[in-house]
Amino acid sequence: MAEESKKQAIEQHKKEVAAAKAALMGGAEGAAGEGKAERVPPREHPLLPALAVVKTPYFHVLGYSVAGEESVIQIPELNINFDIGKCPRPALTADFCLLSHGHIDHSAGIPYYLSQRFFQGMQPGTILCPAKIAKPLSDIIHAWAGLEGKVTEHKIVPMNVGDEFELRKGLIARAFATRHTVPSIGFLIIDRREKLRADLLEQNLPGHILRKMKDAGEKITYTLDVPMVAYTGDTSMAETLLQPGVSEAKVLITECTFFERDHRRRATVGQHLHVNDLMEALPKLKNELILLSHVSRRTGIRAAKKIFAEATARLGKGAPKVEFLMDYAQRLMVKPGRAAPFAIAEQAMPEGAD
Ligand SMILES: [Zn+2]
Ligand SMILES: [Zn+2]
Repeated sequence: MAEESKKQAIEQHKKEVAAAKAALMGGAEGAAGEGKAERVPPREHPLLPALAVVKTPYFHVLGYSVAGEESVIQIPELNINFDIGKCPRPALTADFCLLSHGHIDHSAGIPYYLSQRFFQGMQPGTILCPAKIAKPLSDIIHAWAGLEGKVTEHKIVPMNVGDEFELRKGLIARAFATRHTVPSIGFLIIDRREKLRADLLEQNLPGHILRKMKDAGEKITYTLDVPMVAYTGDTSMAETLLQPGVSEAKVLITECTFFERDHRRRATVGQHLHVNDLMEALPKLKNELILLSHVSRRTGIRAAKKIFAEATARLGKGAPKVEFLMDYAQRLMVKPGRAAPFAIAEQAMPEGAD
């Protein structure tokens, strides 16, 4: 009898595997018959691991971020990656990697990023990083030459707190202070515009007069800085979020690694934010959207969301909009013969203990 039910279970399992395979290989029509499914060419290839895709009014935020595993966050419109723990294909297309610190889950993608861009005929990648790790970063890139036979062309830009780097005309990356177990910085991306002085604007002066004033050496414009996005990387202090520009950036991407009450100590030791730290800062933040990244697998996103909802309920109304980056995870797929990946299906972040 037991033997019989075991046989049935195996048969059932075989059927389920065949159906799943047929669905994967050929979609609805492929599922019609096992034999047919084998001959139907695949309609889509799973090309990439699950990546979050968040659409904001200003740009897209693409990424994957799980504490200790991998953090890579791309903003395609701004031509940047914040950290590059591994190098998913879309990350190759950004000319700049803004490295918050050297922990392997944030930096291991660099040699691949540089080498693969060279291989694909793209311009050399540029890495902005905390000044204190510029040398070890350069050393490791050079060490790869022993394996690859040459040093991949690249540019390293050492950054101290307050330093600015022009990514393109009018788009600035500024380093701000963070506190972690290794040298670290955050990055604020600023849209810098030259605007006509308000008193001149009021007078509605014609262009040739303004030009004359300018040629005569008069300063007819003023500089307007619009903080677009701030990225903290790993950090342990709520004050990180309250710095000028960071608390007003349209989008703030911050870590929030720990949520459970008895993970407080882990947060202190690893110098990460606990949800209680975030709650301290949250009422003072003016961001339009806050994206939480770097959630520990120990808690997982569903449980973290629940704890977060309970904590914010106590804060009352008026707090900024907060979303979990990996809540937007999708599995990107590509059709055979197509270069650009596109999203077809939602895929929740895998959960489990780390
Ligand atoms: Zn990390
Ligand atoms: Zn770290």
